[in-house]
Amino acid sequence: MSRLKMVAGNWKMNKTLQEGVALAAQLKEDVKNPSCAVVIGTPFIHLATVAELLKDSPIKVAAENCADKEKGAFTGEVSAEMVRSTGATYCILGHSERRAYYHEDYEILKNKVELALANGLDVIFCIGEVKEERESGKQNEVVQAQLDGSVFHLSAGQWKHITLAYEPVWAIGTGLTATPSQAQDMHAFIRSLVADKYGAEAAEATTILYGGSCNEKNAAELFACPDIDGGLIGGAALVAEKFEAIIAAR
Ligand code: PEP
Repeated sequence: MSRLKMVAGNWKMNKTLQEGVALAAQLKEDVKNPSCAVVIGTPFIHLATVAELLKDSPIKVAAENCADKEKGAFTGEVSAEMVRSTGATYCILGHSERRAYYHEDYEILKNKVELALANGLDVIFCIGEVKEERESGKQNEVVQAQLDGSVFHLSAGQWKHITLAYEPVWAIGTGLTATPSQAQDMHAFIRSLVADKYGAEAAEATTILYGGSCNEKNAAELFACPDIDGGLIGGAALVAEKFEAIIAAR
């Protein structure tokens, strides 16, 4: 069975509105017929404008976060319903920066995932171990706990709207990429966990992205691994030529 291949960008807290719109316009111009799904994750303030700009383009738009509450008196928060109303169709959740700096634990992420799905968003759910956990050989149990804690309670129907992104935290923004064999081993392990939970067919259909210093130079080698279905790209997604080269490598 062939599953969806994808290259997704995560702009993080970069780009003014004008800069972001210019980057999205460049991508729209250059990426007309990609051989994989292409998603760009932008700050909240860009979503409506970028989604409108890209409405006739194959490029889809993601939020980088959403609230863990439905609506109401939560000053400064942005709900999943509000994200969906911008025209965005994806939401990135569980990113290690949100886990580390904003204390998003399994339960908070579980609520966010449920709200995103309930509001018609597909979720790119990030998992991955920190350096000490890798060094002590705990990476598999860490990733399993992250899945158990926030997404493995979902129904089989909901699971169809989940894309996983394995992002070893020690590789994010550090220039230290996981080797293709480290990444492949983990992706195969993750797929086996999905098979245990949702069955072999669902596991075969699950898109699992690699993220962590993936760039235009190493993407092809990573994407050649059988269980690596694409990438979640941070730094290299901020430059049109680099992001486009990664899309072309997929
Ligand atoms: C990320 O933050 O999701 C990421 C993969 O960042 P970078 O590509 O910059 O390592």
